[in-house]
Amino acid sequence: MVTDTLALPWLAEPLTEALARARSHALLIQGPAGVGQFDLALLLAQAWLCETPVAGSGWACGQCGSCKLFQSRTHPDFQLLIPEALREPLGWAADEGESSKESKTKPSREIKVEAVRQMLSFAQATSARGRAKVVVVYPAEALNTVAANALLKTLEEPAGVLRFALASAAPESLLPTIRSRCQPVPLGLPAPEPALAWLQAQGVDGAEVLLAAAGGRPQEALRWSEEGLKAAAWAQLPARLARGEVAAISDWPVPRAIDAMQRLCHDLLRTSHGAPPRYFAPEALPAPGPSAPLQQWALALQQAARHEDHPLNAGLLMESLVLQGQSALQGRRRAARA
Ligand SMILES: [Zn+2]
Repeated sequence: MVTDTLALPWLAEPLTEALARARSHALLIQGPAGVGQFDLALLLAQAWLCETPVAGSGWACGQCGSCKLFQSRTHPDFQLLIPEALREPLGWAADEGESSKESKTKPSREIKVEAVRQMLSFAQATSARGRAKVVVVYPAEALNTVAANALLKTLEEPAGVLRFALASAAPESLLPTIRSRCQPVPLGLPAPEPALAWLQAQGVDGAEVLLAAAGGRPQEALRWSEEGLKAAAWAQLPARLARGEVAAISDWPVPRAIDAMQRLCHDLLRTSHGAPPRYFAPEALPAPGPSAPLQQWALALQQAARHEDHPLNAGLLMESLVLQGQSALQGRRRAARA
């Protein structure tokens, strides 16, 4: 990390502030997902471990031995607690290739107690480089109850060389005892300008449309773009669903399709109350109509979202949801014409 260039430029201020305001040995970064929580936790960790932090900002220098070790992911005083399922997406997969060989079971989405126990022995060992030892926990809500209770024991200990950066998009679901031992670090949505500039620098076409689609969360927008979502497809979604075209979403993963319809439904409910839409451009939406069919659609979508991981028949489900959406959208058109 060079001091004036962060991979996610909107983290500069939150980073400086968190470093300056940290009073506890455990910080809990909280706010929406997709805006760089994990990245901020790593930046904090590197800064705490850095041997020659930048005067004034407290940022990691990016040059010292500790920073080099951190960047090569071999720092002996750093531990990462993330679910197995996130290792690859976050770029922290084990090099040995053991995961592919060893098990055919799905990697866990939980942070398991075994991982926390391993961390506890790390916590008890002396610091290898004689400075801080840092543990990053992400996302903290992935700690199962047993793991959370095991973690609590180290959080309770008086502040020493061991520091924690936890991050969570659902802090309310954490054990209250964990929350109360952490100093909250709020991380909200970035301003649109740096978020858009960043997306464009990643080569995302239609960045503005996708950033809005993702509710202002740039990492989410990038992921959608990488998964093949095109800005034009998003902009055309309301019109195509109003025509009952299941093909508009049939090749999307089911959770994404349901989520997209939920966002559309949410925007339609907003505009019917005179509020501006959040995820779609105003001109992409039909005129407000009766809200009863919309509310029915919202309920059906909510139910479907609960079972999205194992829909009995994804095709039938999509058809039924699009059909309900169509009548909700057409009701609005009729009302607009009358
Ligand atoms: Zn350094």
